[in-house]
Amino acid sequence: MSDDLAFSCRRCGHCCQGEGGIMLAPEDIERLCLHLGLSREDFLAEAAMAAGGKIRLKSRPDGYCVYFVAGHGCGVHEARPDICRAWPFFRGNLIDAISWEMAQDFCPGINGSVPHAEFVRQGLDYLRARGICRTSGPLVPGREGQDKVRDANTPEALVMERTGEPPATPMLHGTSRHED
Ligand code: SF4
Repeated sequence: MSDDLAFSCRRCGHCCQGEGGIMLAPEDIERLCLHLGLSREDFLAEAAMAAGGKIRLKSRPDGYCVYFVAGHGCGVHEARPDICRAWPFFRGNLIDAISWEMAQDFCPGINGSVPHAEFVRQGLDYLRARGICRTSGPLVPGREGQDKVRDANTPEALVMERTGEPPATPMLHGTSRHED
């Protein structure tokens, strides 16, 4: 890992395993269907389940996401859900250095020698570059309803877009491959 890189995926799969399943936004489903060449109905039947009022990716009996491939990583990397793209730059880890420290025990890809402030800076850049975060600041005039163009951009205001608020340290919500 580069000394100054706050995160570099090790493809360990830790964040692709756990309880609950990855929550899917409509855009995630659309992207995955396109990537897999499946109709929405076939995709939902094959890989998704309803839980807690949300649509989630199924997990296998070994606890891993249905798309996790041992020794390789995410089998749908290019089309992976936004929550997977966002790890480890979740709100909790951005606003709370303790959560960030705890996340390091879980995720070997987080570079603990990089200060938390730098983790936040790189994380926000990463999320914004991919359009997977929003802030709670005032909307840019004439762009109401488009969360990606809100003015304020403080970490405190940042929440995940569309997919809701994941926990600071995931059980499953992440990805084994974040590099694009
Ligand atoms: S990155 Fe997300 S979609 Fe891909 S295998 Fe991991 S949990 Fe599943």
